Amino acid sequence: MAICYLGIGSNLGDRQKNIRLAIKRLNNLKDTKVLKVSKIIETKPVGGPSGQRKFLNAALKIKTNLSALKLLRKLKSIERQLGRKQTVRFGPRTIDLDILFYNNEVISRRELKVPHPRIFEREFVVKPLMEIL
Ligand code: AMP
Repeated sequence: MAICYLGIGSNLGDRQKNIRLAIKRLNNLKDTKVLKVSKIIETKPVGGPSGQRKFLNAALKIKTNLSALKLLRKLKSIERQLGRKQTVRFGPRTIDLDILFYNNEVISRRELKVPHPRIFEREFVVKPLMEIL
């Protein structure tokens, strides 16, 4: 069983609802349980095209029996189910799910880097993460 911290964000559509739905779907994944959810904070977009809406961000603590790569695939599938289209990098998205930590593992693959390399550059990740750590 792995303990894992995730970042979640949304800046398109009904942002609260997107986050709530994503958390529900995470909880419904096989052998996975959401243990803690931080407060949801509103943050200015970092990078990406100008003029995009503010984000709602939160951090989650989960436990799971999925491997880190399988978890990443599930997160991508939840993003797709909630209507995320691949658009510009750092651009608007209905839902963004990132693996911040997966146990104490260090993973350095093209498709998955853990701990997430940009955690500490981003206050919108650090703040909710600190709350639940
Ligand atoms: P994003 O635009 O934030 O959804 O990230 C896009 C890509 O980052 C995904 O297709 C992942 O394969 C890759 N990626 C690398 N490391 C991570 C991580 N720790 N959590 C989530 N995605 C990651």
